[in-house]
Amino acid sequence: MDLKLTVDQSSMVPRNAHPYTISSDEWVEVNTMNPASPLLSPSLEPKDIRYLGEDDLRFHLEVVVRIFIKVYAIAKILQVAFMGYGTELDMTVGTGLMYWIACAQQKIRTRSLCLLIKWTENLYYACYARITFDIAAIELCAAFWSEDRAGLMHDGTFCLPEASHLYRILLACKDVLDSPELSANRDEALVTYFQQAYVRVLIDMQKHMGKFVANDILGFRRNARSVVSNPESSFSQKWSQIISGFSEIPAEVVTILAEKFFTVYAKDEPARDYEPFSFIKFDKNPKDIEEYEEYPKEWVESELIQRNRETARACLEGLTVGEFRRGEFNPAELVRYARLRACVCKDTCFCAQGCHSEPERSCPCAQRQLRTYHCIERKYIGRGTYQERIDAVALSGFQGLSGLKRENDDSIVALELSWAMEVIEVEVRRDRTIGPALEFMGL
Ligand SMILES: [Zn+2]
Ligand SMILES: [Zn+2]
Repeated sequence: MDLKLTVDQSSMVPRNAHPYTISSDEWVEVNTMNPASPLLSPSLEPKDIRYLGEDDLRFHLEVVVRIFIKVYAIAKILQVAFMGYGTELDMTVGTGLMYWIACAQQKIRTRSLCLLIKWTENLYYACYARITFDIAAIELCAAFWSEDRAGLMHDGTFCLPEASHLYRILLACKDVLDSPELSANRDEALVTYFQQAYVRVLIDMQKHMGKFVANDILGFRRNARSVVSNPESSFSQKWSQIISGFSEIPAEVVTILAEKFFTVYAKDEPARDYEPFSFIKFDKNPKDIEEYEEYPKEWVESELIQRNRETARACLEGLTVGEFRRGEFNPAELVRYARLRACVCKDTCFCAQGCHSEPERSCPCAQRQLRTYHCIERKYIGRGTYQERIDAVALSGFQGLSGLKRENDDSIVALELSWAMEVIEVEVRRDRTIGPALEFMGL
């Protein structure tokens, strides 16, 4: 008799042999048989890691933290954008993007591998499901209204970008979520599950919406609703294929969501129950250096000479003055420039040419740059709560993306996004390093 030795192959592969990625089944299990069913709620649970030695734990913790921060950074940029436009902030327990952001922020210093994996998984799917809805709504808005509006309002406050530019920003965010480093093992059934959960939130929205008035002055609501309610329109056909349950959302709700991005008038920064950067803020915003009241006249004169010299050197090198300073000075010196409202912007920013040709003027992006370089440079944890600090840099990142010149190509949008994510990472890591750890590695 021919006896064959059978070997259980699975027992030969060491557990957790590969570093963690989203939905990698070495690390995560979905606790339900059918996550696509709206009646079941799948929980994404990390697998048992008690047998991992300390060195392995240390290695894997770093990998998980890196992926967590990427997903969290995208989530924060989406959060400040959505707050700005006043669109739905979904706090649904278990599936809402804002719910998972709030969970992660409560214990951002944790060293628990399991907790970090749980947040990363849920944040990822909440982000991924959510971003497709908003891209659809923005596409609908941009189809009816298009204009270029990089920059600031007349009173110097930040202005939200028009739908067509926001569309590019969200596509860049989606590209990060689609990158193989994060999503090589993405579970499409879970995407569907999170999408259906948000569809239910939107269907529910109609009950609280009040009477829908279709006759607006510009005809946007009338036109948008007729496109959405027509199942044969290319918009309905496209998004019904991408988003599970899209056709179930009332046309009025999709119209209202799209209208949020319809910024006929530029919108101001969102009202919050706290000031996200009160700890680092200019009291006044003078138009140029001649109006600086806090410095003596002699100092203003020598500063002006210095600025003109730098502009002349920038011209010789074929750079804008902001770009020149970025190449010439370290972050500590750039904080000083930003504090003095001198331009430290890249030449891709809407302000670059204006600040270059008028060296004495206050850079309109100085407040944003001050927050950014203050975050990169400082060695201490910073004033305010963690939420205030992280919101300040997330808002700066979104403002940087919003202020890009519209003629920049998509690679510049992607670069600016990765810069915004790096700054958010600095803030998160500093908090994790300096603040007391909440739990030890592992469980
Ligand atoms: Zn500038
Ligand atoms: Zn600028």
